[in-house]
Amino acid sequence: MASSLFPTRWKYDKPPSIETFVGTFRDDYACAEYLAKKRWPTGFECPRCKSTKAWRLEARPWVWECAGKGNDPLCRHQTSVIAGTVMQGTHLPLRKWFLAAYLVTTHSNGISALQLQPKLGVTYKTAWLVLHKLRKAMVNPDRTPLSGDIDIDESAIPFRRKGDHLKRGGGSSTANQIWIAGAVERIGKYAVGRIRLARIADRTSSSLVPFVVANTLPNSRLRTDKNASYLSVPGRTIDQINLTQAALPAHILFKWIHIVFANVKRWAMGTFHGFREKHLDAYLNEFVFRWNRRRYFRTSMDAMLGIGRSVGPTTWRSIVGDTRQWKQDHIEQIMKMLRPSKRKIVTDLAKYYRVSRVEVMENLAWWVDRLAEEDKSAFLSFKWDIEGVPELSQKLASPRKKPKRPVLVARRPGEERKTSRSYPNPAALNPRIPPVLNAPRPPLAAIAG
Ligand SMILES: [Zn+2]
Repeated sequence: MASSLFPTRWKYDKPPSIETFVGTFRDDYACAEYLAKKRWPTGFECPRCKSTKAWRLEARPWVWECAGKGNDPLCRHQTSVIAGTVMQGTHLPLRKWFLAAYLVTTHSNGISALQLQPKLGVTYKTAWLVLHKLRKAMVNPDRTPLSGDIDIDESAIPFRRKGDHLKRGGGSSTANQIWIAGAVERIGKYAVGRIRLARIADRTSSSLVPFVVANTLPNSRLRTDKNASYLSVPGRTIDQINLTQAALPAHILFKWIHIVFANVKRWAMGTFHGFREKHLDAYLNEFVFRWNRRRYFRTSMDAMLGIGRSVGPTTWRSIVGDTRQWKQDHIEQIMKMLRPSKRKIVTDLAKYYRVSRVEVMENLAWWVDRLAEEDKSAFLSFKWDIEGVPELSQKLASPRKKPKRPVLVARRPGEERKTSRSYPNPAALNPRIPPVLNAPRPPLAAIAG
């Protein structure tokens, strides 16, 4: 059968089926085992005493504890196999990270946090953070620039603000649009190699030249449109094509770069209902990553989880930026809604108890509600000043709840791990067969009768 009739993207590196994948990475032990194999291909080696013997902590299967050797039999150095990966410091089970990476890698159009949320069984915020952490790991700082024959062009891409609807038929309006530059490696006449995309401020040489210099090797041959900004790029051969006078239309001459831009825009609309401007760079990086590794499942999965190179920890704050100012503005807005006399008492109480004004307002509301229920006359004669509010300490005393850490289910007797190397699925060791299935069958005659 001609393979061109039934093309497969994954000719060289086919991803496993969802069933196989979930079976392989069924629990945190299996995921930790995989990470350990990547870290120590020839077996465990303690970074401190070079011992090759270690055991794993029961409650944290991703931590290997050195068993010590020779002159240092009490080493006990602990090595975490998730250190340096995107999972560093995570509270989420490793198998959820693996499943997220699998879904993101195998969906050619990517997956949004809203879609990922129910698949992982986590909150929207967690799914969103997982996706952004995976995206952070997609950019390899050591990647080599494009080389050879390269097509370069720019395009405007629409974005949406918080609460905006993305309008159709904007035409040439660039009110909610942002410029991006793209570069595509051409291989031979028909094939295409790697790509690069980046946000640019405008179409002048001060924006375009840094993009070209950063993303192409010297001596590569560039093909561009008649934008004079490209002429000042140093060290590259530049072939400018006048598209208005060319015999062929732009989408044929610049076929691949146009396909890339069209795919980016369709992806933005289809998967995300329009990019948000703030995270545009992350989305462009994800698109480039997908394109450049579209035929390689295993490498993209490892790269995405940050295996094999240190991506370092990414925090919520490093992605969303400083949210303190937003909170401050939000509180000011609420304060403006209060009457000046009440605003004063809230501010005074916040200073007195050394808590935030929001906390005072919450407590005050709770206290006034109680007063209205229990003592109607006191409530009606209540005066809004600091002496009028005697006891806020009751509710203020409630401490902030600490986030829960995931707890692995304790193993039942008979399910202890037998060897140090393989970790059979506990369920498989002691299958819980419903008693109904175990009961002896009635004779056929009894059923027939
Ligand atoms: Zn050691």
